[in-house]
Amino acid sequence: MSFFGEDVFGADAMRAYLPQNVADALLATIEDRAPLDPGIAGDVASAMRNWAVDRGATHYTHWFLPLNGATAEKHDAFLDFENGHPIMALSAKNLIVGEPDASSFPSGGLRSTFEARGYTAWDPTSPAFIKRHGKGATLCIPTAFCSFSGESLDKKTPLLRSRQAIVAATKRLMKVFGLPEERVSVTLGIEQEYFLIDRNFYLQRPDLVQTGRTVFGAPPAKQQQLEDHYFGLIKMRVLDIMSEVEQELWRLGIPAKTRHNEVAPAQFELAPIFEDANLACDHNMLVMEVLRQVAKRHGMACLLHEKPFAGVNGSGKHNNWSISYGGKNLLNPGGDPGQNAIFLTVLAAILTAVDRHADLLRATVATAGNDHRLGASEAPPAIISVFLGDQLTAVIDSICGGNGAKAHKASALRIGVDTLPPLPRDATDRNRTSPFAFTSNKFEFRAPGASQSCADPCTMINLIVADAFDEIATRLEAATGDFNTALQSLLRELFTAHRRIIFNGDGYGDEWIHEAERRGLPNRRDALDALSVFRSPENIALCSRYGVYNERELASRFEVFSEEYVSRIRIEGAVALDIASTMIIPAVQNEFASAASALRDAEALGIDAASAPLRSRAEALGDGLSGLLSATVALESALQESPHSIQGSMAALRKVADDMEQLVTDAHWPLPKYREMLFIY
Ligand code: ADP
Ligand code: MG
Repeated sequence: MSFFGEDVFGADAMRAYLPQNVADALLATIEDRAPLDPGIAGDVASAMRNWAVDRGATHYTHWFLPLNGATAEKHDAFLDFENGHPIMALSAKNLIVGEPDASSFPSGGLRSTFEARGYTAWDPTSPAFIKRHGKGATLCIPTAFCSFSGESLDKKTPLLRSRQAIVAATKRLMKVFGLPEERVSVTLGIEQEYFLIDRNFYLQRPDLVQTGRTVFGAPPAKQQQLEDHYFGLIKMRVLDIMSEVEQELWRLGIPAKTRHNEVAPAQFELAPIFEDANLACDHNMLVMEVLRQVAKRHGMACLLHEKPFAGVNGSGKHNNWSISYGGKNLLNPGGDPGQNAIFLTVLAAILTAVDRHADLLRATVATAGNDHRLGASEAPPAIISVFLGDQLTAVIDSICGGNGAKAHKASALRIGVDTLPPLPRDATDRNRTSPFAFTSNKFEFRAPGASQSCADPCTMINLIVADAFDEIATRLEAATGDFNTALQSLLRELFTAHRRIIFNGDGYGDEWIHEAERRGLPNRRDALDALSVFRSPENIALCSRYGVYNERELASRFEVFSEEYVSRIRIEGAVALDIASTMIIPAVQNEFASAASALRDAEALGIDAASAPLRSRAEALGDGLSGLLSATVALESALQESPHSIQGSMAALRKVADDMEQLVTDAHWPLPKYREMLFIY
């Protein structure tokens, strides 16, 4: 593994290319997340350039995460001239700030043209890396992207701000427990699901190429009934891609660890070892990029859409989130009662946070693609709830004096540091249906979609948990008398108030929808509705109080994300109309013409036995043709209307088209079918 991290300007490279005192200063800056000493910036820039040039780089770019959810880069050559001679240069200024302008990225009103300039600012906590392409290589410098007035135009800045909020709140809370100050880290392990299909099929599907999902396609006879794909033997062609992806990722210092087949045919998963959340989010963006590129080199297409195939499992991105203090995971139910008291406090804070702000969490996963996935086959519903498992739930019930009390002899249970019984360790059973599940020593937020950046969901988890930590700290700081008694009564109060968010049952069932409604949990099925919570005064107040988003920044997110939602649906509608008009209708017309001519022949020849079936086939095709024509007319006018009416018209059109797919001669159907895309690779 000597090549792990070889394309990253990490600690080893810094030590190799910088004088020791400068390397120490830089590493300390990164560790403490302090601003860079301007005195060393020049040395750091030259070292980074020398390192990159030694590895074949000719260009550098500030690499950032604009609000469109992608990554952005604008390359500049190191080339400069000194006394008429060409040299390779990277100045301190070019390392630290960039002015990519980049005025075409969505800003949601944060930039009017007179102040259109956008700035990028180096984020030293995410190391620079080299991207290779053909014969060239580019040094990528991770940066934050903001407007002239300092407002965030990206996904990284709020994440870094939310990190600060949760770090401060954690230190405060731990101080209440009498612990000395230690380092706090927020960790994230991001499991990425994706589909791989043959690229020839992909290129013949204008819907996949333009929207990432199939807007037509009849279900194949074989889907996942046999459950023969999950964890099954990985096909050689796919394994080749996986290994090449991993080697590229390792070179970039991305700790890809696990690979396996997923539940749906042609669906796979890649999971890395968890890392600092900011780094994990950057790394996941690179994971998606490398997956796409390597698949393409192998003649396949990697689909990262949340729902490429209707009726088949969608793809998500599980965000495994945890927080540690002085290197100790606070979500580890501990070996000793002191640690258990902290664990239960953190658990109470998280339940409080998720229950209070389920709507904010939901909003961070509200995209057009994810709308197809949430609540559909094998994906968590749009209702946010927390899975804890029976044993932990029983502990909480006993603290509240509820039902679980009997089972766990709650009368004896006190939170007092010496009286708390050991908690079940690693006793959480698995529940794949929960959007926010406790899994041994971390929470797994499973609602995020496969194609989205994890920065928004992680920002929100950090923020709402910080708020709950602060509230608990405030209460405990003000408590008089015995600490354990105060803690016990506070935990009881919080668990009692928020246990409605705990749900250990089947999140896929209809009963849960009714039960959740009875419990008063929000169920926002529709992304636009879900996003609207960014406009509520309480949410604006919460986000501004912690400086994570100011009012204008939050409003801009609402605007950008809802506009993106509407445009995506309009594009899907237009693509469906195009495919129907130029591919499907002509195919059905031809099929009708040949059925009609066969019918005429049968009648002319007096072959009565054939006339009846040929007539009914021609009639079915004729009906289909007329259905398709009226559905396309309806879709055409719906395209001027709301997303809902576009979606309604697309569904009606798809119904007829998919019926026709099952009638038209296979060789004449103009689009690769589900059974081909999902099973032939
Ligand atoms: P699963 O049962 O979901 O496959 P794994 O144990 O394989 O669970 O872990 C899934 C992901 O969770 C991995 O990316 C792993 O690195 C990550 N993970 C494990 N511990 C933590 C932690 N303390 N903080 C954040 N992520 C973690
Ligand atoms: Mg998982």
